[in-house]
Parts: sequence; structure tokens; C-alpha cells
Amino acid sequence: MRVPAKVNVQLAVGGVRPDGFHDLANVFLAVGLYDHVTAAPAGPGAGCAVTCEGPGSDRVPLDRGNLAVRAAELLAAHHGRAPDVRLHIAKDIPVAGGMAGGSADAAGALLACDALWGTATPRHVLLELCARLGSDVPFSLVGGAALGRGRGELLTEVPVSGTFHWVFALADGGLSTPEVYRACDRRRGAAPVPEPEPDPALLAALREGDPRALAARLANDLQPAALALRPSLADTLAAGRAAGALAGLVSGSGPTCAFLAADADAAAALAASLEASGTCRAARATTAPASGAVLR
Ligand code: ATP
Repeated sequence: MRVPAKVNVQLAVGGVRPDGFHDLANVFLAVGLYDHVTAAPAGPGAGCAVTCEGPGSDRVPLDRGNLAVRAAELLAAHHGRAPDVRLHIAKDIPVAGGMAGGSADAAGALLACDALWGTATPRHVLLELCARLGSDVPFSLVGGAALGRGRGELLTEVPVSGTFHWVFALADGGLSTPEVYRACDRRRGAAPVPEPEPDPALLAALREGDPRALAARLANDLQPAALALRPSLADTLAAGRAAGALAGLVSGSGPTCAFLAADADAAAALAASLEASGTCRAARATTAPASGAVLR
């Protein structure tokens, strides 16, 4: 299964809910950076084993802490069968990079195991299982563009025209998503937090395929907290803007930075400038929207 990364073109974060989560207005866009998840048969009683290769794979847990393992076990339990499978993850999505790599692997593992076990799980049930695994997992399954409400798992499709060109500046190491949310809450203190609402101008820019209009509306409420935890990201954002990006922002909880470019040539030039700037580990040009988890 090939599963895409995401960038949040709008991430509006509400106050903390009694259950510890935050209400969000989260506009997801799937982008062309992919992990590949495969499922191979394992003997009776073997359980679920996982291996992982690629950049940062030494930071990916290989036990039940791996979201792909949890996905396989959840699907097996749903069908009352043993979770015997050997999963393999080839990672290209940065680990703990704010691009939902673990969620992508969970969605990929669900589909890969469903195919291997012949369990033919209906799409709406797969989506329910995804939501139980994590707020970003349903979007990794569907891809494209979507608005996530609730804690991000209640999805409605967002229409998009054309292709948007992005550059992602990959950082060394990761940032912990819960830590970034806690830093965001601390920075806000006791100040009242408005209800998170999707931005109509941003949705119109996506619908019309207008990169300049989208650039003007990119917004991430987690960005100040991510910058406070990793001040060097300000240099990365400045380097991208100086190199001609239409706009730049921290992707989700970071530390990956995302830049919108006018077209494919501008994206290639921007990626080269960012790499030369020394403000990131690597820069990758790609396009959006990408499709969700697909058999590849
Ligand atoms: P998000 O954008 O959804 O908040 P993220 O992209 O910042 O997440 P992930 O790459 O999903 O971060 O990983 C976050 C943590 O989850 C990792 O540090 C790792 O310990 C754990 N993890 C569990 N399963 C996986 C997986 N399959 N791939 C990567 N990390 C995983």
C-alpha cells in the first residue's frame, strides 16, 4: 500500500476539551511524499511483527507502540481472527515531522491486512476503525483534501481544482505532537479561545486552484508553539520566503516546514535554494492533492 503524507493548510485549534483533546478546524491536504506498507502471511500464532526501513526508522517503535501494529490488531479483533501478519514499512514521510507518517502507516496497514486476510471490510467500517486509531488516520485513508472537525476525525471532502506545488524542508529529529499542543495551551494561558472555524477564503482558493490566494490564507495555530520549542525553524521559514516561496508555514506540529510555490519550476528552484541555505536536512518538491491509501 502506498500512503501519503499530509500538510494542514489551515489548523485552527480550540480550547482543551474535558477529554484532553482540542476541537479543531483542520483543513488537510494530502501531498506526494509516501510511505509503503506491505503485509505478508505469518504462521498461526505468530501475531503481528513489523520491520521498518528508511530515514528516521531507528525512531519508529517496532512493538505495539507502532500505529501500524495497532491497526492490524484492531482489524483482526474486529473480525474475531488472529492478527498473524508480517508488516513492513518503507518510510519516506519524516518521522515525528508533523506530516502524519504514523497515521499513514496505520491506514496502509489496515488496507494491506484487509487484502491479505480477505476480510473485505466495508469502507465505512474501515473509516470507523481509523478514527479509533487516531485523529489523522481517517484522512490518510481518503487522501485528497478534507475538512476535519471534532478532534480532526470527522471528515468532509473539500473540493480542489488543479495541482498545487509544494516544497517541504525536512528537519533533523522530530517534535512530539502532544508536547506542541501543551506548549500551545501554556502560551494561551487563561485567555478565551474562539471556536475553530474553517476559513471560507482558504476553501475558495482550494476550489479555484489559486496558489496565490491559498498562500495568503495558510494558517497554523500550532506554529508559535512549534517555533518556541524549535527556534531554528524561524530561519528555515525566512530562507524559504527569501528564496521566492509564495508563503511558508510549519506543517502541523512540525518540525517540517511547508512552502507553497507558484509552479513546478519555482518549486524545484526553491528546493535547491533551501538545501543550499543549510537551514534544513533536505528539501523535497512535490505536488498536491495526492490520493489516499492505494494498492501499489
Ligand atoms: P502528526 O502529524 O499526526 O501529529 P507526526 O507526523 O508528527 O504526527 P509521526 O511520524 O506520526 O509524527 O510519529 C509520531 C511518533 O509516533 C513517533 O515519534 C513514534 O514514536 C510513534 N510512531 C508509532 N508508529 C509509527 C510509525 N508507523 N511511523 C512513525 N512513527 C510512529
